[in-house]
Amino acid sequence: MGKTVLIADDSMFMRWILQKALTDAGYHVVGEAENGQIAVELYQKLHPDVVTMDITMSVMDGIKATEAILNLDPDARVVMCSAMGQKSLVREALEAGARDFIVKPFNPKQIAEVMDKVLESTARSC
Ligand SMILES: [Mg+2]
Repeated sequence: MGKTVLIADDSMFMRWILQKALTDAGYHVVGEAENGQIAVELYQKLHPDVVTMDITMSVMDGIKATEAILNLDPDARVVMCSAMGQKSLVREALEAGARDFIVKPFNPKQIAEVMDKVLESTARSC
């Protein structure tokens, strides 16, 4: 089975785009969350290898969710998905522990490259 991934984004269309790009790249999408709170709950339940995290979401945004996930699992691998012009939010997310980021609109090849790089640079034993 490919590496497992949890997708967090409040846009159903974005989740679909990510799900398609990641599945095509050999990832196994184990869960989808429409806000940060659900992402944290699903992370605890599913322990995916990597999470794609939108920044702007209702209930709990992606930065707070990243902090919460890293609190639960300091080895968690979170990749932020930002829109253009969210540079300062991306910096905040990286300070909160996100490993890298991709910028919308997505290029499927670029998504896979960033994800592969994050997984390679932070290999873990289990
Ligand atoms: Mg959003």
